[in-house]
Amino acid sequence: RIPVICIDGPTASGKGTIAAEVAHRLGYGILDSGALYRIAGLAARRAGIEIDPAHEAEIAALVHRLPIRFTPAQQILLGDEDIGQAIRSEAAGMDASRVSALPAVREALVALQLDFQRLPGLVADGRDMGTVIFPTAPLKVYLIASAECRAARRHKQLISKGISANITALRADLEARDARDMSRSVAPLKPAPDALLLDGSELSIEQVVEQVLQWWQE
Ligand code: C5P
Repeated sequence: RIPVICIDGPTASGKGTIAAEVAHRLGYGILDSGALYRIAGLAARRAGIEIDPAHEAEIAALVHRLPIRFTPAQQILLGDEDIGQAIRSEAAGMDASRVSALPAVREALVALQLDFQRLPGLVADGRDMGTVIFPTAPLKVYLIASAECRAARRHKQLISKGISANITALRADLEARDARDMSRSVAPLKPAPDALLLDGSELSIEQVVEQVLQWWQE
């Protein structure tokens, strides 16, 4: 069986950074499952489809047909278009959260996610990696951080990319997104029963990575 490390948790808890570093250290592949929901949201928006339960089947059908590819260099392609930038905005994150509450859309993305399993192993980051997609994974980490800390990090990240942002608005946005992700009926955001909880609020990236690797070696 191919080893999978799941890293789940709320918005901007550092999952992406930690997953990428852990994957790099172990020589494993990476699944950024949030990117798939972001692409689904973007595709619905571009197609002019309202993201709501009334359009669930239509969006799911659209998602089934999407030519999504991840290149070995971690580029995200939709057809021939590199959409890595377009899906990173806060608006795209909010659309992703809305589209991800639709069960048929989640279902449409399952096979694609399972397909990421390759030797020597996979690090999967998201909200339901440990609860739904890889329930038998040998290591599940649930990474949290205070809302204050997550908003501050997201703010710093945006500023470093030359994007202006308001820290209070960012915090309100991420709390709204978490509330929706936790309260939806399918695959709500919550730790798997066998997940190990890690609070990164007071830790450096290196310390969090070290903790995950230590658990993996145990
Ligand atoms: O992690 P990221 O911010 O890119 O995820 C965007 C949104 O996609 C999340 O707010 C969540 O609603 C949804 N998502 C999900 N299940 C996953 C990954 C992301 O529902 N496994």
